[in-house]
Amino acid sequence: MFRLVNINGRAAFEYDGSWYDLAELSGDGMLADPLQAVVRHRELHALYGRGASAASGGLIADAVLGAPVPQPRQVFGIGLNYRDHAGESGVALPPAPLTFTKFPSCIAGPTAEIPLSGDMVDWEVEIVAVIGDEASHVAVDDAWGVVAGLTLGQDISDRAVQLTGVPPQFCLGKSFANYGPIGPALVSVDAFADPDDLSLWCDVAGERMQAARSSQLIFSIPTLVAYLSSICRLYPGDLIFTGTPSGVGMARNRYLAPGESIVSGADIIGELHNTCVAGTGPFAP
Ligand code: ZN
Repeated sequence: MFRLVNINGRAAFEYDGSWYDLAELSGDGMLADPLQAVVRHRELHALYGRGASAASGGLIADAVLGAPVPQPRQVFGIGLNYRDHAGESGVALPPAPLTFTKFPSCIAGPTAEIPLSGDMVDWEVEIVAVIGDEASHVAVDDAWGVVAGLTLGQDISDRAVQLTGVPPQFCLGKSFANYGPIGPALVSVDAFADPDDLSLWCDVAGERMQAARSSQLIFSIPTLVAYLSSICRLYPGDLIFTGTPSGVGMARNRYLAPGESIVSGADIIGELHNTCVAGTGPFAP
């Protein structure tokens, strides 16, 4: 197993509360690049064991972590992938994974500030699958084999932008700067007793808004990998935001305000701590 983090733009292991620069630990400068670390995810399992005997760079608690995959090539988002969230949204269950993109420029670290683009900005805690291998036409039974690991994400969504026009367009409303915080670590699949059943939750301004288990996904991670890879070639570092459970702001008519905290968590993976700040809305054409 391994826990991969990003410290000052360099790949590092998280081990026992401390971090270890991966290039230093391995003696291989190529592994400083977080994306190269994902490309070579199979090597990381053996290297992770060296953590105990290497020199630590410091405590994780004292570090500012970046996104474990800061520049993914493709970011897939899945809508309405929990039955209760589809219900609260008042729409029918999709017959196949309802897919959009979060443009990769929205990806941010686990403690990034969220500049709000308006007064209808919403939270969506999600398990994020990180692809490890270049792959196409992957069978469901083989799908976990091309996943490097799991991380946690927020699919921050400006509902006013998302629901502009008919049909609505999801991509831009979910792609403002820092609308895709991920982390705190990329955790290898074998670190989970059951990678298809993680607890995840989201607190906004100290109030529990979302709590679910990923076993409630309508389309499981292997199904998503099989479906998406039957259409798009997948690359190492590609992210799949797997969908959010019920409890989003849109269903409560309650949206994010400057100064509010968003704390998102998942079993084993850890927590994201994001603070909302005033931002800039979209240009009105
Ligand atoms: Zn989402």
